[in-house]
Amino acid sequence: MKKITVAHGDGIGPEIMGATLDILTAAEARIEWDEIVVGEQLYLDGNSSGIDTNAWDSIRENKVFLKAPITTPQGGGYKSLNVTMRKTLGLFANVRPCKSFHPFVATKHPEMDVVIIRENEEDLYAGIEHQQTDEVVQCLKLITRPGCERIVRYAFEYAKLYNRKKVTCFTKDNIMKHTDGLFHRVFKEIAAEYPEIESDNWIIDIGAARLADTPEMFDVVVMPNLYGDIVSDITAQISGSIGLAGTANIGDACAMFEAIHGSAPDIAGKDIANPSGLLRAAVMMLNHIGQQDVAEKIKNAWACTIENGIHTPDIYKEGVSKQKVGTKAFAQAVIAHLGQKPKELPEAEFTHNVVFKVPAYKRQADKNKVLKGVDVFVDWKGEDPDKLAAHLVKLNSDIKLTMITNRGVKVWPNGFEETFCTDHWRCRFEVENGDPARKMSIPSLLQTALLEDIDVIKTENLYEFDGARAYSLGQGQ
Ligand code: NAD
Repeated sequence: MKKITVAHGDGIGPEIMGATLDILTAAEARIEWDEIVVGEQLYLDGNSSGIDTNAWDSIRENKVFLKAPITTPQGGGYKSLNVTMRKTLGLFANVRPCKSFHPFVATKHPEMDVVIIRENEEDLYAGIEHQQTDEVVQCLKLITRPGCERIVRYAFEYAKLYNRKKVTCFTKDNIMKHTDGLFHRVFKEIAAEYPEIESDNWIIDIGAARLADTPEMFDVVVMPNLYGDIVSDITAQISGSIGLAGTANIGDACAMFEAIHGSAPDIAGKDIANPSGLLRAAVMMLNHIGQQDVAEKIKNAWACTIENGIHTPDIYKEGVSKQKVGTKAFAQAVIAHLGQKPKELPEAEFTHNVVFKVPAYKRQADKNKVLKGVDVFVDWKGEDPDKLAAHLVKLNSDIKLTMITNRGVKVWPNGFEETFCTDHWRCRFEVENGDPARKMSIPSLLQTALLEDIDVIKTENLYEFDGARAYSLGQGQ
């Protein structure tokens, strides 16, 4: 008997969780559960994180968490509980299988069978945001080598275990050469360790367009956090309904399973929500805890129910569906089919020993890191970059003003008057010869800036690692 933690969630959460637990019980899943309350009720009681210590203790003790969707109140400084849980528990891999159930669920893509593997902790979801001037806010995009290695290895190990043929990488490294560039570089390095699995790479914009148009071209697709968030919802929706897809959030110690949709307050309490997304997440959970026999039984019964045209309103279609049912009746239909196997949809077949460990990260030898200068960000309300430059050259020392950009575009020297400028200027000071910059140059530059009444918002050091420039050029530089 495995003990898990269960949260009934908000909106349609209690209805779909009730249906899912009824099916798990009827299928004789060897589980028992602690119930915790997370989400709206806690937010409204003034707990801005949406989770309390008892709930954390239960999840950390049981290590497996089946969670119904929760409502995040809009505005008011509430942090997303989902993001908090994924990051706090180290749930680095978000696995979202999206498969069509043609001809029983209407879809334009009868052949699709794609697994999106989304990095779950990094990228813009580090949530580090600042307002820096009247006109400019920023969000830091953090991509790390350990994070990339872990998720890419996970994608290849997943493909190997589930006998998938290809792993595709989506990035935007034609623009973000350092952040997405690292993700792509790591992908290429790790793909070489799995020669038996085909690999390819797409720039995310055209890759996502092709995925939406011709999903059968893709098999396993791995990508950074934000792209994965968006692309996996699109992929689930085009498979038939957002109500069908479940997701696993996997870490080294804990795992959390949920539907990919939200709490659907518009249909809450009406007994019409489709419980399939959460049920399919529960099947992934059973697989994860080594109960493949129960996972197969439930998946087959669910497929029989879908094949027999017993559909909730979100997937009900005249001519295809036979019976429109509510949440409870759908669960009863799945229970009635336990022990049966589908005739047309593929039979469930789970690989045994599915829990695989991604090899531990090994830090590489330290690189030779050499300071070459500093980018000084300045809040300045003027319009003519030549005037700003005339002021800034007073800060020159061994590092000298070489460039000013505005929103990343070079505006000095030789800028264009057509370029639109805000009040946020990036002013680059670099060594002129190949020598390293002195560390003291930066604080002394900042001190002079203070005396000259230049409003410095922040600085970013410019480094070379093993002789390679490790910062971007200005656009037009
Ligand atoms: P949503 O996914 O809840 O609903 C979008 C649309 O899909 C609605 O029309 C809804 O009726 C329909 N829908 C969703 N699930 C369905 C199901 N199982 N059966 C039938 N129809 C279904 O998205 P939203 O309306 O943008 O968000 C509502 C709330 O959910 C927000 O507070 C949001 O923050 C939260 N949310 C939570 C999670 C989570 O807990 N994992 C994920 C996404 C959104």
